[in-house]
Amino acid sequence: NKALRKAVIAGNWKMNKTPAEAKELIEGIKPLVAGAGCDVVVCVPYVDLATALEATAGTNIGVGAENCHWEVSGAYTGEISANMLTAMGVKYVIIGHSERRTYFGETDVTVNKRVRAALDSGLTVILCVGEYLEQREQGITAELVAMQTKIALQGVSKDELSRVIIAYEPVWAIGTGKTATAEQANEVCAIIRETVKGLYDEAAANAMTIQYGGSMNAKNAAELLAQPDVDGGLIGGASLKPADFAEIVKAAT
Ligand code: PGA
Repeated sequence: NKALRKAVIAGNWKMNKTPAEAKELIEGIKPLVAGAGCDVVVCVPYVDLATALEATAGTNIGVGAENCHWEVSGAYTGEISANMLTAMGVKYVIIGHSERRTYFGETDVTVNKRVRAALDSGLTVILCVGEYLEQREQGITAELVAMQTKIALQGVSKDELSRVIIAYEPVWAIGTGKTATAEQANEVCAIIRETVKGLYDEAAANAMTIQYGGSMNAKNAAELLAQPDVDGGLIGGASLKPADFAEIVKAAT
């Protein structure tokens, strides 16, 4: 089944890189991933999108934003709508990253609204789910991740799932250098796949690209990506270093 799915390696730059720095980073990545056998995406700050689109034109690198609002337009000072992104030529958007949930009050309900708006605008969504350490220790990871997935996908049709990627990101592994073991990553990715199966059907579950994210790097990527239910990675820190990012892309192909 894994062979039927598209492996996707996506960088999440977070709040890093000015436009000039973005151009330099993409120029560094471009030649290293040119022959990639998986899909390659860079998700960048809003202000870097134009530069990233220009620098990646005609390459195999897709460009994504790191969030979008659910309204199409209106009095929402400081926000960016999904259709503004598609109008620029942006193809991907991260929704529900744990940093949005933790620092900016994002909830499962607003995540769902953003997923809906992004799909309505034609974007491909990278939907993030994952547990805090306390929740893992409490033994509620499976229930929690299943619930996050179910709420985020409310109102999403089976056809639209071809534009949904789910990223399992245990919060305790993000930016900490403390990666989930390959077994832990696979176990939860499999739970997410089962959840998708329950919501839709087996074909939908088999076709769903499910990434792992959380301190994935050039050293541990191969083992994580070799797991039967891990179809790619959402890469923070290591996506800011061309050689490391390229090494992860290579491990996925
Ligand atoms: P990290 O971030 O690779 O730096 O842990 C991953 C993410 O937050 O998507």
